[in-house]
Amino acid sequence: MNDIVQKQKRYFRTGATLSLSFRLAQLARLKETIQAHEQAIIDTLAKELHKSPLEAYTTEIGIVYEEIHFITKRLSDWMKPQRVPTPLTHFGSKSYIYPEPYGVTLIISPWNYPFQLAMSPLIGAIATGNCAVVKPSEYTPAMSALLKTIVSEAFPEEYVTVVEGGADVSQQLLDLRFDHIFFTGSVPVGKIVMAAAAKHLTPVTLELGGKSPVIVDASAHIDLAAKRIVWGKFLNAGQTCIAPDYVLVHISVKSLLIERMKQYIEQLYGDKDAYSRIVTVRHAERLVRFLTNGIVVHGGTYDIEQRWIEPTLLEDVTWEDDIMKEEIFGPILPLVTFKTMDEAIQMINDYEKPLALYLFSEDRDVQQQVLQQVSFGGGCINDTIMHIASPHLPFGGVGQSGIGAYHGKASFDAFTHYKSVLKQTTKFDIPLRYPNFPHALKWV
Ligand code: NAD
Repeated sequence: MNDIVQKQKRYFRTGATLSLSFRLAQLARLKETIQAHEQAIIDTLAKELHKSPLEAYTTEIGIVYEEIHFITKRLSDWMKPQRVPTPLTHFGSKSYIYPEPYGVTLIISPWNYPFQLAMSPLIGAIATGNCAVVKPSEYTPAMSALLKTIVSEAFPEEYVTVVEGGADVSQQLLDLRFDHIFFTGSVPVGKIVMAAAAKHLTPVTLELGGKSPVIVDASAHIDLAAKRIVWGKFLNAGQTCIAPDYVLVHISVKSLLIERMKQYIEQLYGDKDAYSRIVTVRHAERLVRFLTNGIVVHGGTYDIEQRWIEPTLLEDVTWEDDIMKEEIFGPILPLVTFKTMDEAIQMINDYEKPLALYLFSEDRDVQQQVLQQVSFGGGCINDTIMHIASPHLPFGGVGQSGIGAYHGKASFDAFTHYKSVLKQTTKFDIPLRYPNFPHALKWV
């Protein structure tokens, strides 16, 4: 592994990755290679996570093409050195900001969107002129192997490569000195990554997780709220970093919301073929233990061997229950009631700052109150998940849900150092700063 990193450092120093034409050619090459393997990607996602072809395309492949397209169109503008104003005290000089790549970046990715979450950061690394080592998750080994095939077909090892393996391999990589680390995964491992990065003072982008709440207030359009929460929660069987983790619902609309959610669960995920599986038996066993919390009002059945858990709604859950103490990351949705918005906000603020927050409300004052009083990575008003799919919106967490952001321009920023440069004139020299001032202005 050290050899690979050293090779990449040498390659980076040749300057080969710096030009616009090189970067655009590599993005195009990546897209072509993905296109050539599109069916294999869909088949692998079906095999390992039972994702339907539609879900595989929209949430894993299409989003990657869109990111390449969006960045390709704008890259030339983003790469230009930016001239900025210069204060009068610096008379005679000009000021510029030069975007430059960090060098060699390490990308560590999880299993829940195993293609997209390895590829999207890689697009950012390529667009900014970095070299990259990608370490996919060991829990989706077929996708890990496919990523290796795609990347090695598209790029030489000294430029971009995939290193396969689990936590041990990841830790060996973290011992090496990279110029930037981009990690997507859980909060506990995020802390390990940051501690390892601190040894070399390596900058990090951490895309983590946590408990993302949904608030449904009394003014909400309940039918649409039910439909959009059900879609966002049970997509990929709840194994989405920004999936609604729990619902805070105003007590007056709880029964109606549950009734509509049950209908939409049948309508959207009643077909077993259009519904994902849990990644491993061990992960399924962990989730099933939550089914003893609160009261099951819908679902609750499962087949551990098949890694299948029915979309499940729980009510009468308390904050002392295990399900409320950690990120659920599966198809079980607890509902907790509230009477006032202040109470709901306090419940959220008692937790770590969430990666996502979703508010369903027709009341603009309530919308404003939540935006002002709750800190969260990103989210939606009257929808779930959709904010992640806009390349115009930086995606990332805050506090324990992450450090930094990416997607679109934010991806360019995540992998870039902005070098500030003052270009001074040699035509004259203003003496104000020198110890022997007040000598007159000297023309040279
Ligand atoms: P994870 O943290 O267990 O693993 C992520 C990656 O880290 C894997 O490649 C794994 O091999 C590696 N890893 C695991 N243990 C390690 C260790 N001790 N040292 C070094 N590396 C180690 O996460 P996961 O289970 O694959 O994914 C689920 C988590 O990721 C959830 O918390 C979810 O919210 C989060 N997530 C966040 C985002 C986001 O964009 N913010 C996206 C997807 C998932």
